[in-house]
Amino acid sequence: MARRVAIIGSGIGGLALANLLAKHGDHVTVYEKNEQLGGRAGKKHENGFTFDTGPSWYLMPEVFERYFAQFGRSASTDLDLIRLEPGYKVFFDTHTPITIQGNLGKDSNTFESFEPGAGKALRHYVNEGQEVYRLALEHFLYTDFHDLKALLKPTIIKRLPTLGRLLMQPLHHRVKAVVASKPLQQILEYPMVFLGTSPFEAPAMYSLMSALDFDEGVYYPKRGMYSIIELLVDTGTSLGVTYHLDTAVTHIHTQAGVATAVELADGTTSDYDIIISNGDLHHTETQLLDKSAQTYPEHTWQKRRSGISGLLLYLGVKGELPQLEHHNLYFVDQWKENFQAIYESKEIPEHASLYVSRTTATDPSTAPAGHENLFMLVPLPTGVSVDSAKAGELAAHYLQQFARVINQPDLPDRIVSRSIMTPDDFGDRFYAWENTALGMSHVLGQSALWRIPPQSKKLSNLYYVGASTMPGIGLPMCLISAEVVYNRIMEHRS
Ligand SMILES: Cc1cc2nc3c(=O)[nH]c(=O)nc-3n(C[C@H](O)[C@H](O)[C@H](O)COP(=O)(O)OP(=O)(O)OC[C@H]3O[C@@H](n4cnc5c(N)ncnc54)[C@H](O)[C@@H]3O)c2cc1C
Repeated sequence: MARRVAIIGSGIGGLALANLLAKHGDHVTVYEKNEQLGGRAGKKHENGFTFDTGPSWYLMPEVFERYFAQFGRSASTDLDLIRLEPGYKVFFDTHTPITIQGNLGKDSNTFESFEPGAGKALRHYVNEGQEVYRLALEHFLYTDFHDLKALLKPTIIKRLPTLGRLLMQPLHHRVKAVVASKPLQQILEYPMVFLGTSPFEAPAMYSLMSALDFDEGVYYPKRGMYSIIELLVDTGTSLGVTYHLDTAVTHIHTQAGVATAVELADGTTSDYDIIISNGDLHHTETQLLDKSAQTYPEHTWQKRRSGISGLLLYLGVKGELPQLEHHNLYFVDQWKENFQAIYESKEIPEHASLYVSRTTATDPSTAPAGHENLFMLVPLPTGVSVDSAKAGELAAHYLQQFARVINQPDLPDRIVSRSIMTPDDFGDRFYAWENTALGMSHVLGQSALWRIPPQSKKLSNLYYVGASTMPGIGLPMCLISAEVVYNRIMEHRS
C-alpha cells in the first residue's frame, strides 16, 4: 500500500528524496516555508539581472549523473553542462593572479613555474586525492555506516594506514609538506571553506577536494544552477509529488515512539506514515518536537560546531570586467588570521578572503547587454548578527578591497543593482542554527561516521535528509543523502 510521506523543506535533499519515494509509489507532500522551492539553492531576478542565490560550483558530476539516471534522465544533457575552462582564477595581495585550468597537466606546469618541484608534487597530491575520492564514492559516501563490518573489505584494509594518517592529520600539515609557497598552499587549502571548516582543522582526507578541482573539472549548467532544482521539480511533478509553498511546519506530533502528523502555521494538521525533515536539524529537533521526542535537545548542540556564515552580495555592474573569469577567489595574506577570526574569535574580519562569481562570463543572459552579473561571498563567523546598516558598510568595504585587488578602482561606482544577504537572513529564511550559511562544519568529529545519522533515535519513522546529516554539505552530498535515507526507509531499519 502507498505510504503517506511528508517532507519538511524543499532543499535539494528534500526534493531528491521526494522523487525517489514517489517513484517507489508513495504519496509524497513537500512543505516549504518560503515562496520558492530549492532552499539555499535559490534564484532571483533584480533590475534585469538573474542571480543564483547560493551554490555556484557544480562539482562531482558523476553524482548528479547517477541520481538522474534513476529517472531515465541525463544530468549532462538535461542541464546542458559546460566544462569551465579555465576552472577559476585566484587573486592575491602580493602576488600576480594564478589561473587554474582544471587540467592536471597544464596546472602542474603552472605550479612548477611558481616553485621548482611543485608540479610533480601537485600531480602526486592530486593522484592521492583522486584515489581517496574513488574510495569515498565506492565505500564511504553512499552509506549511513550502520554496518561497520561491511567496510572491512580488502581494498579498504590495505589502505587503512594511509586513511588513518589522512584522518588524523590536519589538511594544512599535509599541504605544507607538498608545496612551500603560500599562494600554492592557499590554492590547495581553500576548498575547506566549501565544507564550512578551516584547513588548520579539517582532516587531510579532504585533500580529495583538489582531485575535483584539478582532475574531475569544474562544470556549469548552461541555464544556471537553479536549473538543477527545476529538473528535480519537473521529475517530481511527473511522479505526482505535491509541493506547498509558503507553508511552514510548526510541530511534529508524536505518539508512542512514532511521528504521526505535521502541524502547519495555520493550525491544520495532516497525518503521515513517514515524516522526513530537510530543514536545519537544530530547528527540527529543538523547535518542532516536544522535549520527550528530541534525540538532540538544546544542550547537545553546545559541543557542535556550526561552521561559517556569510555576507552575500548580488551585484549588477555597468560595463565589462574582462580580468575576471567565471569563478574568482581572493586570498588575503593574513590567511591563518582570517580563519582564526571566523572559526575561533568569531570576529568579523577587517581583511577577508572572498569568492566572486561572474556568471556573465558563461551566460550573458543573466545581465542586460553591456553589464556584468557578480555574486560575492564573504565568509563570516556564525553566531554574529549584522543589521542592514552594518551590512551596507561591510559590503562597501569588501567591495573596495576587491576593486583594489583586481585593479578596477571604479568598480564601486559602476554598481547599478545591489542586494545583500546577511547572516541574520540565513536564520530568518532557513531557520539556520547560529545563522550558519552552510550547516554544521566538517571537522573530524562531524564528518563521515561521526556526522549525525539520518534517523531519529526516539521516533522510528522520523528521518533527516540534506546537509545537516550524512554525508554533509554541498549539492552532490545532499543528493547522496537522499539515496542513503531512501535505502534506510526501504530497509525498515530503526
Ligand atoms: C552561499 C552558499 C554557497 C554555496 N555554494 C555551493 C556550491 O558552489 N556548490 C555546492 O555544491 N554547494 C554549495 N553550497 C551548499 C549547498 O547549497 C547546500 O549544502 C545545499 O543546498 C543544502 O541543501 P539541503 O537539502 O540541506 O536543504 P536547504 O537548502 O538547507 O533547504 C532546507 C529547506 O527547508 C525549509 N524549511 C526549514 N524548516 C522548515 C519548516 N519548519 N517548514 C517548512 N520548511 C522548512 C527551508 O526554508 C529551506 O528551503 C552553498 C551554500 C550557500 C549558502
